[in-house]
Amino acid sequence: MIDRVSTEVVRAAQREAAAWPYRELDLARLRADGWHPTPIHDLILKVHQRCNLACDYCFVYTQADQTWRDRPAVMPDEVWRAAVASLGRHVRRHRLSGVRVILHGGEPLLYGVSRLGLLASELRAEMPAGCKVHIGLQTNGVLLNEKVIGSLRQHRIMVGVSVDGVEADHDRHRVGPNGRGSFAAVRDAIDLLRRPENRSIYGGLLCTVAPETDPIACYEQLRAFEPPMIDFLLPHANWERPPRRPAGTTTPYADWLVRVFDRWYDESDAISVRLFEDIITLLLGGGGQSEQVGLSPSAMVVVESDGAIEQVDSLKSAYDGACATGLNILHDDLDAALEDHGIVARQIGRAALSAHCLQCPVHQVCGAGHYVHRYRPGSGFRNPSVYCEDMRILIGHIRDRVAAEIRQRETEVVEAR
Ligand code: SF4
Repeated sequence: MIDRVSTEVVRAAQREAAAWPYRELDLARLRADGWHPTPIHDLILKVHQRCNLACDYCFVYTQADQTWRDRPAVMPDEVWRAAVASLGRHVRRHRLSGVRVILHGGEPLLYGVSRLGLLASELRAEMPAGCKVHIGLQTNGVLLNEKVIGSLRQHRIMVGVSVDGVEADHDRHRVGPNGRGSFAAVRDAIDLLRRPENRSIYGGLLCTVAPETDPIACYEQLRAFEPPMIDFLLPHANWERPPRRPAGTTTPYADWLVRVFDRWYDESDAISVRLFEDIITLLLGGGGQSEQVGLSPSAMVVVESDGAIEQVDSLKSAYDGACATGLNILHDDLDAALEDHGIVARQIGRAALSAHCLQCPVHQVCGAGHYVHRYRPGSGFRNPSVYCEDMRILIGHIRDRVAAEIRQRETEVVEAR
């Protein structure tokens, strides 16, 4: 169990690894200037640390942070019960009207559906009347079958599936320990989710962008799965470990996403694509929901299988221990996480941006991209995204297309008078 001494050790290590925010963010000054933290709305429970796949880009097992090795493979009941109780107190204290709890891993279905069902039931019972509880599960899909889906449906657990486009592209990266691709199993799982009786828990598809693949083939494959929502994720990278860029390309991620955007934008029956919708909403002055763009405060924490309260686990791609707060749900309250410099840095909007980003004409939309993509050893997380040029091009393209459509509609209205 983590104690107060080790909390200080964690904070010292964070100050050493990342000047921003751990040395440079002045929390007292922020408070004096009237800033208040945003309560936690999203809680991610890492119910199982292990995975039944061995994807080659996975940031949990293959990158800088190896803390999973020291944690229990399976989250003990006392840990999730402590998390549920703490979330209940947090919801009451801050009078929240809704929370999202995501069951995550590793592969969360390794936890077993009966235990997931028990967790979901106790979670709903713990939240006060009037608080809307959304429970989701992010899976690689391999263990989904009729029985599992029936149980998840019974407990109203929404299912998001990770799939990387067409079979050959998916199987190049998302493989089992034997090296065999997982596409066939995932396709069967999604076919089950598409059935009318299961659609109420079909949450959507998550696809990692691979610039060497055909973007239209990828998008058409995802569309054929009839998801309610698609989200595209840039591979986790930073200034120390930059993203792969095929030879002869400078902005392959933007080039790929622009082609998908154009196909999507021209459709009359388009499926929801979170990244594109968020960028359009932000361009029009609204707020985004994605972690990848915008300046909205992040109100998300992770509880690991040993009870450690951490920042989002994509930070594991930055450096060993990058997610750590030194807090533990077994003896710390969720509110304590709102004091953590790493969590505060993701709640203060423009104040967390580098001078370079503040000069950028699209910074209100881009928001310096995903927090983890800003990491540079030593200086930490107050840098432009390592995908900066890709972000500029993608946002500029979407802005131009939306602006052209607005002008065209104005012309049509004038001509119709
Ligand atoms: S496009 Fe680049 S400079 Fe502009 S906000 Fe994004 S990361 Fe910063």
